[in-house]
Amino acid sequence: MHELAITQSVLEIALRHADGAGRITRLNLVVGDLSSVVDDSVSFYWDIVSQGTIAEGATLHFERIRTRFRCNECESDFEPDGRVFECPQCGGQSIQLVAGREFRLESIEVE
Ligand SMILES: [Zn+2]
Repeated sequence: MHELAITQSVLEIALRHADGAGRITRLNLVVGDLSSVVDDSVSFYWDIVSQGTIAEGATLHFERIRTRFRCNECESDFEPDGRVFECPQCGGQSIQLVAGREFRLESIEVE
């Protein structure tokens, strides 16, 4: 259900940006590792919701974004190593999430 709503909104955005194009051939999506969006579910719903639109049959391309944190102490970025949420540079434990939750439509290709 989650993915159905997401897929519908992706379609709406794509159609709004297609701007008089004959056909949408490809959608480039950015998906963070923490976003809980499952590629296969989106692809499954995509075939259903895009039916009868100019985006029908378009390829979905998923770009995965890895989770990244930033240390509030020394401001270095790092990827979490397993379950240790601690800065590898200074050992600081005051950290914030800077990437990994995103889900967005980056671009579309039309013809
Ligand atoms: Zn640090």
